[in-house]
Amino acid sequence: MQTYDYLIVGAGFAGSVLAERLARGSGQSVLICDRRGHIGGNAYDHTDAAGLLVHKYGPHIFHTNSRKIFEYLSRFTAWRAYEHRVRASVDGKLFPVPINLDTINGVYDRNLSEAKAGEFLKTLAEPCATLRTSEDVVVSQVGRALYEKFFRGYTRKQWGVDPSDLDAQVTARIPVRTNRDDRYFTDEFQWMPRHGYTSMFENMLDHSKIDILLNVDYRDVKKQVQYRELIYTGPIDEYFELRYGKLPYRSLEFKHTTHDQEWFQPVAVVNYPNEFEFTRITEFKHLTGQQHARTSVVHEYPRAEGDPYYPIPRPANAAIYARYRALAQNLPGVHFVGRLATYRYYNMDQVVGQALTLYKKLARTHDKTKTSNGFDSEPDGTLGRRGMHHQPRKRPILQPARA
Ligand SMILES: Cc1cc2nc3c(=O)[nH]c(=O)nc-3n(C[C@H](O)[C@H](O)[C@H](O)COP(=O)(O)OP(=O)(O)OC[C@H]3O[C@@H](n4cnc5c(N)ncnc54)[C@H](O)[C@@H]3O)c2cc1C
Repeated sequence: MQTYDYLIVGAGFAGSVLAERLARGSGQSVLICDRRGHIGGNAYDHTDAAGLLVHKYGPHIFHTNSRKIFEYLSRFTAWRAYEHRVRASVDGKLFPVPINLDTINGVYDRNLSEAKAGEFLKTLAEPCATLRTSEDVVVSQVGRALYEKFFRGYTRKQWGVDPSDLDAQVTARIPVRTNRDDRYFTDEFQWMPRHGYTSMFENMLDHSKIDILLNVDYRDVKKQVQYRELIYTGPIDEYFELRYGKLPYRSLEFKHTTHDQEWFQPVAVVNYPNEFEFTRITEFKHLTGQQHARTSVVHEYPRAEGDPYYPIPRPANAAIYARYRALAQNLPGVHFVGRLATYRYYNMDQVVGQALTLYKKLARTHDKTKTSNGFDSEPDGTLGRRGMHHQPRKRPILQPARA
């Protein structure tokens, strides 16, 4: 039986960052497995039949305010500057989202200045004494008309319920701008990995102490190898064999298509709050900067069943998760990290941050002298700018043993 210091379940951001750090930073041997046939988790991208780079599980845009996280990932990829822009199709026209001065002027057929837009918005808002539902949150900010045009239909499709039946906590206060800034994110670092996410993950995991095993569930892997510690990034309820019931998720179906035209739409993402069964269309060339005579897009259809994507933030579900977390906290040698293991929607940078924090804790047990920020020591000296280039993995990816 092969022996490893760590078995890591899941080769998404959480698992891959920990594999990289434990191997390269602490000299630990790692087996990382995934039941999917690829590394990268939900951020996986690949070249489709037309030769276009697409994101299999919907658009992933990297943005962060953390220099530390950006610099860490920069070890494994070069970047392409990209600021994300989204439009919503409303009444047959495309308007900027989040709502900004152009959205307000367009919808209300005005020509307001920045100074006047704030006052105008106040006349639209319908203040509400207690914000009980998601509808209350939005209507109290932008009024009923903008709520009906931009939010109600989208939320109904996304969550399968009307915003008036959704807890206020599901919709945080929505960003509304009275200037013309039409960027979706305002973070300091907004970049896309120049050669794609999968290439970045390949560079991360290309280390002599890391073995990768794909297309296999960890419940089968754990019978075939020995390991000292387990890092688990899969669904926490599955780890405990659904002892307290299934944690509910909203799912998505992705329909990818390629079109014989250079461009499909003016920006990367167009939302359809009021028409069609899908919520949005993403055109990948805007994200990747690829030049090509054809173009590939993905339509997203929200589903009640399927792969787990969005934890449903309801108090009853938080209570179930709290019971699982209590079990997890009492398991020595097992570490739960990432979006599925902590039943929480996180952006990629947050998951990287979570994984680096766990590594910092684990590193202390491997090297008592390490007091650093968790990723600045390179015992094997192989890092540097090597990761800036796309390189095929030198070590073979293992195949699961067949019963
Ligand atoms: C549609 C969509 C769009 C998104 N867009 C963005 C975006 O634009 N920007 C952003 O920052 N974030 C975005 N995110 C969030 C991003 O996907 C997550 O932050 C990130 O993927 C989380 O990484 P992770 O490692 O925790 O989980 P995952 O990437 O899901 O990795 C977990 C892995 O564990 C594997 N696994 C689970 N159970 C087992 C098992 N029993 N055995 C073996 N393997 C197992 C799974 O197959 C999976 O590959 C988006 C999410 C979705 C759903």
